[in-house]
Parts: sequence; C-alpha cells; structure tokens
Amino acid sequence: MLAAAYAADVATNLSAVAKEPWDAVVIGAGPAGSVSAAVLVGKGLRTLLIDRATFPRRKVCGGCLAPAGASALADLALPMPDPSPPPRRTDALRLIARGASLRLPIEPYTMVNRAHFDETLARAAENRGAVFLQGVRGRVLPGDAVKLIAPEGECLLQPRLVVVADGLGGGALTDRPEFAWNIDERSPVGIGLLLDRRPEHALEGEITMVCGRGGYVGAARVDQTHWTIACALRASMVQQFGPAGAIAAIMAESGYRTPALDRGSMRGVGQLTRRRLLASGRVLVVGDAGGYVEPLTGEGMSWAIACAARIGPAADEVLCGRDARPAWSACCAEVLSARRTICRAVCTLASQPVALAAALRLGGRFGLAGWASRRLCWSAA
Ligand SMILES: Cc1cc2nc3c(=O)[nH]c(=O)nc-3n(C[C@H](O)[C@H](O)[C@H](O)COP(=O)(O)OP(=O)(O)OC[C@H]3O[C@@H](n4cnc5c(N)ncnc54)[C@H](O)[C@@H]3O)c2cc1C
Repeated sequence: MLAAAYAADVATNLSAVAKEPWDAVVIGAGPAGSVSAAVLVGKGLRTLLIDRATFPRRKVCGGCLAPAGASALADLALPMPDPSPPPRRTDALRLIARGASLRLPIEPYTMVNRAHFDETLARAAENRGAVFLQGVRGRVLPGDAVKLIAPEGECLLQPRLVVVADGLGGGALTDRPEFAWNIDERSPVGIGLLLDRRPEHALEGEITMVCGRGGYVGAARVDQTHWTIACALRASMVQQFGPAGAIAAIMAESGYRTPALDRGSMRGVGQLTRRRLLASGRVLVVGDAGGYVEPLTGEGMSWAIACAARIGPAADEVLCGRDARPAWSACCAEVLSARRTICRAVCTLASQPVALAAALRLGGRFGLAGWASRRLCWSAA
C-alpha cells in the first residue's frame, strides 16, 4: 500500500502516476468501482481508482439503496454517508397506475443522495490505501494497457489487472470491439433530477412509482432538502414530447399534475437494458458497465456493490494469468440472475398500465401486498 503523503503526491501528478507499478487500475468511482478498489486494496494490491468526473458529481438515480446493498457495505465495513441528520430510511413502496394505488410495506431502504454517497465510498477506498484521481478519463487499449487522459496531459499504464466500472455511458472500452454493447432497443431511457420541494403526489417515508404507457416516474426523499425524480421513459415518447412531456403524460394518466421540473437540472442516460462481455484478458467489468436491466425495483447500486464485493477470486485468476471469464461470469450470474428476472417481470407488468391497475386493485382487495413486497425488494437475508 502507498504511504498517505506519497499517495497524495501521486494523486496530483500524472507523470508520477505513470511511474508507479500498479497492480490494479479501476476505471469509474461509482459504487462498483469504489467497492472494487476497496476490496483490491484489502488484498494488498497497489490500486489506482480514477473517475472522469470531479466529486461530488450528479448521477441519474432514484437513490433507494436496497437492504441487500446496505448489508453488503456493512459486511465490508464500508461507510454510509455520515451527514447530520443521518441517511433516511423508507419503509413503503407505493405503486400507482391509472389512479389505482397499492402501498407495499418493505424492509427499510436507505435513501441516499448519490453525490454524497458516491464521494463517501470513493473516499473510503482512498482511506484504505487506493490512490483516487478525479477528472481523469480512462480508456482500455488493445493489449489491456490503460490510457489516462486529463486536462494536464496523458499517460499510459500497464497494470496487472484492469477493472472497468464506468457505468452505462462510460466509453472506457470503446477501443475494444469484443466488449461492444448488446442493447435492447425497445427498452426505456433513464431520466433523473433533484427537486428542492416535495412533489405533490409523493409522501414522506415512501418510494412512489407512477406507471403509465410511456414508462414510470419514481419519487422519493433522499435527504433533508432534496427529493429525487427518477424515470424510465419509452424512447419514442421522449423523442415525440421531450422528457418533461413524457413525464407529464404518465402523471396525467393517473390524474396527477406534473411536479415543477427544472429542465436544466435533468440528466439522462440512454437505453437501459443491455449486456456485454464481462471479462477478457486482464480486464474485468463490474456494475452497470457489465449490463443492466430497467430500474423499477431500484437495485442497480446494490447489484453493483454485491458483485464488486466478490471481485477478489476473479482478480486472483487474472493475476495468475488465467482466463477469469468463466469464474467472473458465474459469480455475477449467481448474484444477479434471480433479481434481474424479477425486475424484468415487474417491468413487463408495469409497461401495461391497465393490467397493472387491475393487479393493484386485486392486490389491495386480497391482501397480497406482503407477498408482493417480499418479492419486489431485495432484502438483506
Ligand atoms: C432512472 C434511474 C433510476 C435508478 N434508481 C435506482 C435506485 O433507486 N436504486 C438503485 O440502487 N439503483 C438505481 N438506479 C441504478 C443505479 O444508478 C446504477 O445501477 C448504479 O449507479 C451503478 O453503479 P456503477 O458504479 O456501476 O456505475 P455509475 O454509478 O454510473 O458510476 C460510473 C462512474 O464511472 C465514471 N466514468 C465513466 N466513464 C469513465 C471513464 N472513461 N473514465 C473514468 N471514469 C469514468 C463516471 O463519472 C461515474 O462516476 C437507477 C438508474 C436509473 C437510470
């Protein structure tokens, strides 16, 4: 591990970074990258964590951390943000379609403002011994060398292991055709923004999800001053009406007015459902960078954290010069397959608001809320 003072010097000096014999370079300091870096440092590897953004940075997200994700962080003794007041917990999910509404009690989710949450995790990896460079873009070249690109210059690294955790829109693997995305073109696009007041239809302590023909609009309180609006919107609706128009149409189907949206603060990500190769040569891919499905069940952070927490054995395969693809693919499938199947099933139902409204009415009448919430939410057990 690098001594703190030296690490600080390296972190401000790209030519010093180029001289270091890095064991691992992690590209992207979202939850997947920061947790991976913390795990790799824990194995005694000299680890460089880079992000093209300067933190705190915004991220399109509902901010709902499932119990399984919170518990994976606790198992690694990684911190949650520690503001005063402490992170909020939410113990109900309200599904709404065409005016029908069902409140599902859930094992409490922790609500996080991604700007603070992601910075806390990156700093935790840094405190454990990783060198964290912000404002530096990474590209994985053929042969697994990593090019670092910063305003002050560029350098080339030859680490023993490369972890790509650059999310859905990263571009770290653009020079590697074998990692080309396989995108479901029918899947919705993601849009998110923060509001500084409660949207009229949302309630304290609940995640509210309004589903309509054009997709779904989630709302929840993430900290003392902010509510998040996170949506998965049908791409054709967004092309026709713009994101605000698509949101308004979904809200109107259930009889709600659209919250006042500051269009300037809206952020988008492309088509959400996609997958790609998870490993090749010295490269392991983790988190959204390795594939994603629509976010209705609010688990993407937890999927990223849970997979990154288990990156150790696959990293060992790479460091020993073996093909890590079978082990890493099997590990990710074991963590994610069942949850993603549930998520896909829920999204299919949510895309048919008439059927969903009927299911919500039946669920309310026959007391199925408990049954549904146990399946919908990724519990810590
Ligand atoms: C609308 C919407 C709502 C969502 N709601 C929820 C929710 O409520 N709960 C939940 O758990 N999940 C939710 N998600 C999913 C969640 O946001 C992601 O699954 C999660 O952020 C994945 O983490 P990650 O670390 O893989 O990627 P990211 O968090 O995207 O981090 C990737 C990082 O890589 C950096 N980067 C990109 N390219 C480069 C590069 N070339 N070089 C260096 N750095 C780079 C980026 O700056 C970024 O910091 C939602 C997603 C969407 C779209």
